[in-house]
Amino acid sequence: MRNPEFCPNCGERIRENDSSCRNCGSCTETGWSERAYYDSIGVDYDADEQFDYDEFLEREFNTSSSSGQGQSTLFRIVAAVLVILLVYTFVVIF
Ligand SMILES: [Zn+2]
Repeated sequence: MRNPEFCPNCGERIRENDSSCRNCGSCTETGWSERAYYDSIGVDYDADEQFDYDEFLEREFNTSSSSGQGQSTLFRIVAAVLVILLVYTFVVIF
């Protein structure tokens, strides 16, 4: 397995002859893994702390869950009704 040009963990440039990252200690044996990085700095690796953009989108906007679709349609109907009521109120008052 060839060394990556830059360390995936810390961004340090990897020289071709280096068997591991000079900065954080990641190496081919550890698969340049994040765990190696966290082990090297003495922090317990916690997968929950990792930012997963897809999961974030799914959680925030329900983009990939089918049950979320009906929810957002209902929300749009409610929003539309509220807008209509608001406009109607304005028309009545003025
Ligand atoms: Zn590194």
